[in-house]
Amino acid sequence: MKYRTHIVTSVAAGAGVVTTTDISFTFPYVIGIALGALIPDIDEPNSFIGRRSFGLARLIKTAFGHRGITHSLLACFLFVLLYQKYPSDFTLGIAIGYAFHIVGDFFSKRGVPLFSPLFKKKMKSPLTYETGGSQETVLFYIALFTLIYFLYEHKLYLQLLS
Ligand SMILES: [Zn+2]
Repeated sequence: MKYRTHIVTSVAAGAGVVTTTDISFTFPYVIGIALGALIPDIDEPNSFIGRRSFGLARLIKTAFGHRGITHSLLACFLFVLLYQKYPSDFTLGIAIGYAFHIVGDFFSKRGVPLFSPLFKKKMKSPLTYETGGSQETVLFYIALFTLIYFLYEHKLYLQLLS
């Protein structure tokens, strides 16, 4: 998935979470999701965040490979712990954005090593899309319209401005 698809699908999913829980759609929550949705690709020097990582991406890719440990449930869990240690809308958003990035890549043809480092095999959904292909473009627009729907139907924009 391209970074913009990760951001839009994760923010849309995060908006969906808001409609079924007592979490508020605040500005720090949304910024947290967008950031969390980018962090896993810190293992790829050519990714949006990798190009802005001052060389960290190259180190991580060398150590773990792309779509290695940063795309595992263990990494997701670490961000949940971060939220538990420092609870805020922002850290909650990061944990949610991170988790939905892994979900997004789970539906791609390459899959993700969910149980890394224990078990390095990449797992994927039975139904997948091609990264960067026309299916991804369709996904991007579905997520965008879902987000707009949540924003207006559930009046989330009011929480965003409050
Ligand atoms: Zn990824």
